[in-house]
Amino acid sequence: MADRAVVIQELAGVVGTDYVVHEPEDLVVFEYDGSVDQALPMAVVIPDSTSQVSACVRVAACHGVPVVARGAGTGLSGGAVAEQGGIVIALTRMNRILEVDADNLLAVVEPGVVNIDLTHHVASDGLYYAPDPSSQRACTIGGNVAENSGGPHCLAYGVTTNHVLGMEVVLADGSVEWIGGKTRENAGHDLRGILVGSEGTLAIVTKAVVRLLRQPESVKTLLAVFADLDEASAAVSGIIGAGIVPAAIEMMDDLCIQAAEAAVHAGYPEGAGAVLLVEVDGIAEAVEEEAEAVEEVCNRFNPLQIRTATDEDERERLWSGRKGVLGALGRLAPNYFLVDGTVPRTKLVEVLSRIRQMSVDTGYPIANLLHAGDGNLHPSVLFDQRKPGDIESALEIGGKILEMCVEVGGVLSGEHGIGLEKQQYMPLMFNESDLDAMARLKPAFATNDILNPGKVFPSGASCGEFSQMAAVAKAGPGASA
Ligand SMILES: Cc1cc2nc3c(=O)[nH]c(=O)nc-3n(C[C@H](O)[C@H](O)[C@H](O)COP(=O)(O)OP(=O)(O)OC[C@H]3O[C@@H](n4cnc5c(N)ncnc54)[C@H](O)[C@@H]3O)c2cc1C
Repeated sequence: MADRAVVIQELAGVVGTDYVVHEPEDLVVFEYDGSVDQALPMAVVIPDSTSQVSACVRVAACHGVPVVARGAGTGLSGGAVAEQGGIVIALTRMNRILEVDADNLLAVVEPGVVNIDLTHHVASDGLYYAPDPSSQRACTIGGNVAENSGGPHCLAYGVTTNHVLGMEVVLADGSVEWIGGKTRENAGHDLRGILVGSEGTLAIVTKAVVRLLRQPESVKTLLAVFADLDEASAAVSGIIGAGIVPAAIEMMDDLCIQAAEAAVHAGYPEGAGAVLLVEVDGIAEAVEEEAEAVEEVCNRFNPLQIRTATDEDERERLWSGRKGVLGALGRLAPNYFLVDGTVPRTKLVEVLSRIRQMSVDTGYPIANLLHAGDGNLHPSVLFDQRKPGDIESALEIGGKILEMCVEVGGVLSGEHGIGLEKQQYMPLMFNESDLDAMARLKPAFATNDILNPGKVFPSGASCGEFSQMAAVAKAGPGASA
């Protein structure tokens, strides 16, 4: 067992005492992310450079203690929670934008750069960074890479993996490697593709080369209001089925509308059953045509109202409701458990109606927020953690929703990752040998299992005899094929 005092002393030797957090009252800040999981780390270290990250990982490797990378802690699947204790490496001081190459449409950034800050930084060059999680005012590029994050505008432009060309990483033994680079194509295996979305289990990202896009010439944002969710869902299928790929199609149900309106006065009509926020962008003529086509499709599904933002202020206001809705749910209940599953778009009507029925059967309100164009559902089960049994019930309902997503041909996560929260559901999609094959990647990157151990894969108890360490042992020295 590692001597905590010695570990803390060695970490302080790397970053200085000011950047090692170890008093219990200070550590509680790092106990949570945005999910319902919580655990206290042994210490939190806040390095300022790749070489410091590398040295901290070497300290951890030497003492055999877990290392959990942490960005802003907005993750919604428990990924940044130090469930097995150990050291949290918080990357928030490494927040420099190192290079902007406007000609080649790329930037090199440190992992602690806040997502929206990159777009603000390059706006004067007429550029932006496309992946836009709703948490973009807080979440970091490192966290986005680790979770392969999406966002409203990922429908047309793709999620984080489509925007990361390469990265510098620190591996579990402290070594520093470059994976990918500044070009789109790299020879050899696509290790970049493996690392994006690996949830901090394979490497710690210390620099990322990301693509930038030119700001579109024209943007139009439409609000389509419906009496109920079924019509709004059918309109989404109709839009995509007509071959239109807007930049974004977001959907909110009545509970979300109620909460968002009360919090930010976004201008969503009172009493609406569902709203769609549809954005089209591109060259001006095409945008006009596409907006008309979207309106035409929506009109087939009995909208109560269709409104186009007339200026940038109105557009911002419409989006402020969508981007602020999760925080606003606090007006409806003290807690929410947000589920992140994806279904084929054609199943939206069925799945949303089954979720409504679950809410009626269980008595727990469920607020539905969707990146609807991608079929990515975010039902949020509203509950009160102070009531005995409430959290267990909310988790159980969330589990049933995930089971339903898989049953109708969908997947366990649209964008928030597996982390701690969904690991027990992995066997719904993957059999033991699938999981084993995935877990064998870890020993290909390291001979120890200190990077975010116990995440993503189900524990042995819930998945036969499978365990990640078993896979590590199997594929380690002397492993049979
Ligand atoms: C209100 C709200 C809205 C959200 N909306 C969206 C959304 O629209 N789309 C979406 O995809 N997500 C969304 N999220 C979830 C979350 O913001 C994203 O997953 C985000 O990418 C997490 O970034 P972070 O910096 O907070 O990472 P953290 O929560 O700190 O960490 C997340 C994971 O990344 C790992 N990690 C962090 N930094 C590194 C690094 N440098 N190297 C290796 N691993 C690292 C951690 O170990 C952990 O496993 C939302 C969350 C909230 C609270």
